[in-house]
Amino acid sequence: MKNSSFDRFKPIAFLGKNTQEIKTIKSLSQNLAATVWLPNSNKTLPNPKLVSDNLKYYDCSLSEHLTKIWEKYRALVFYLATGAVVRLIAPLLKDKNSDPAVIVIDAAGKFVVSLCSGHQGGADLLTKLIAYEIHAIPVITGASSSLQLPAIDILGHAYGWSKGEGNWTGVMAAVARKERLAVIQEAGNSLWHQQLEDNIFDFDSSNIGQSCIWISERQRNLKQSELPQVQWHPRVLWIGIGCERNTAKILIEQAIVTTCDQYHLAHNAIAGIATIDIKRDEVGILELCDAWKLPLKTFTSEKLQQVTVPTPSEIVRKEVGTASVAEAAAICAVAKDADSLIVSKQVFKEPGQSGGVTVAIAKADKEYIGRTGKLYLVGIGPGSLDQITSAAKVAITEADVVIGYSLYLDLIQSLFRPEQIIESFPITQEKQRGARAIELAEWGLTVAMVSSGDCGIYGMAGLVLEQLKGKNWDGKTPKVEVFPGISALQAAASRVGAPLMHDFCAISLSDLLTPWEVIIKRLEAAAMADFVTTLYNPRSQKRTEQIIKAQKIFLKHRDKDTPVAIVRSVYRQEEQITITTLEKMLDHAIDMLSTVIIGNSNTCNHQDWMITPRGYLDHK
Ligand code: SAH
Repeated sequence: MKNSSFDRFKPIAFLGKNTQEIKTIKSLSQNLAATVWLPNSNKTLPNPKLVSDNLKYYDCSLSEHLTKIWEKYRALVFYLATGAVVRLIAPLLKDKNSDPAVIVIDAAGKFVVSLCSGHQGGADLLTKLIAYEIHAIPVITGASSSLQLPAIDILGHAYGWSKGEGNWTGVMAAVARKERLAVIQEAGNSLWHQQLEDNIFDFDSSNIGQSCIWISERQRNLKQSELPQVQWHPRVLWIGIGCERNTAKILIEQAIVTTCDQYHLAHNAIAGIATIDIKRDEVGILELCDAWKLPLKTFTSEKLQQVTVPTPSEIVRKEVGTASVAEAAAICAVAKDADSLIVSKQVFKEPGQSGGVTVAIAKADKEYIGRTGKLYLVGIGPGSLDQITSAAKVAITEADVVIGYSLYLDLIQSLFRPEQIIESFPITQEKQRGARAIELAEWGLTVAMVSSGDCGIYGMAGLVLEQLKGKNWDGKTPKVEVFPGISALQAAASRVGAPLMHDFCAISLSDLLTPWEVIIKRLEAAAMADFVTTLYNPRSQKRTEQIIKAQKIFLKHRDKDTPVAIVRSVYRQEEQITITTLEKMLDHAIDMLSTVIIGNSNTCNHQDWMITPRGYLDHK
């Protein structure tokens, strides 16, 4: 089963000398959908599928082979000695903007070392994720990781921003010296502000006498500046295009480039192209979108006609039924009014080239991320980090945003990265939490929504899926993945023995969302049918009667000495375990942090353990 948390690092290659080591990581390489490269001498392997479904051989030296594949992978994972890897990659290293992430795993699988391109190439993060997967120790030596410095040079990655020109080395050095940095933000989201150490950034633009970071659609020439300055470009520009039939791509391209340059707009700040729907098959526009990897938004003439524009044209209205295509489409694309237009209609005609083009540019409030968002619905287990699956850890650490109830976020704090957005909500705001997670994932972010225990057992998974269904979700955008967790019933059972060895059920005593009559019906049925029964949400400060009624129902059908376990805050520091009987269960403290397990008619106690016989010993 492939884990999409690794998507951002793909394609990934694993390299080793022989099958001995690589065999041990089959599931890792499969999870990462990695290509496993081995030398030709391994070709006689009796069963190559045991190593990987995607095993390939090279028939030259490893250093020659590396030269061939160096630029083809975003991450290279070596099963070799670190020294050997250093020698192999030394001649190939160019710069940290383009080199792949290089990672080394020792033969015993104890350590995962982030060797190269740790920060921008993502090797530090991938190292951590692999270490979670194989239960190894991540070895990360980059300064930004150990000093928890704000990651200026990867700040915009999550939001699809492009890095512009500037003295990046100078700014990073200033940050490492903990100097203050002016931030002038003219475009893009401000979500990222909340994760900053506020003593480093200065958002007051009157203080520009220091190193500076511009976040803008504008292209600034920062070369003359003595102080280090850099620029990020969020994709906020929507280019409205009108053109005659069969206008060549090159003319459309020239029109866009000329307009952007004239108005000092960064090409990388372009979010997409907008036009009238009858142009949705215009070859020149489609070729341009393809080459520049831009989305195309089209609008009907009726829709365009409703927009007030600065430069309407009667001739255009007669031809296509709206007085404006370029300006109106750009405004429609940003879903705002004419104020959003930062460049009004420009007309281009080139002698010798077919067609003519009009260009107008509008600026959106929200940047276009350019990725399909993902929604991870993650169960974090009962509360201790040992009881969370490695897949869930990977998902939480990899996500751009982690959302959850504040108490649960505290439990998993050590998994967070400094660049991540963490949004905590009070316990009651489940619907708001779900809606927020969906909103951010629809925008293009990877969002991890965490629940305690299992997210699909009285957790957030069901609510979020219901909310998506209510929005007519197509099942793909955002992409949803559910990560199971150890539920309170399993965790509680494990601490008292094996009470769930036979048929069992879970019933929540909370009548906040379920009518009490329904709960009573289920309690009666479970008690009568002799199910071992786990009670969730057994008693709160306001709801005190339900547990008393539940006990009464069970006493009608089961012996008063039936073993009962009350497990509170299982696998957390304040854990309390009580083994008692059905008759005496109410003499003990039971609250919202407790799970109650009522045994069936065969459940017994031995020493401090609770056992429900499965029947093996009676079986002849
Ligand atoms: N999704 C969670 C359940 C959430 S409902 C899961 O799968 O475990 C909340 C109830 O779960 C609590 O009232 C309590 O009954 C139970 N619970 C959750 N965490 C617990 C813990 N650490 N110890 C004991 N009970 C717990």
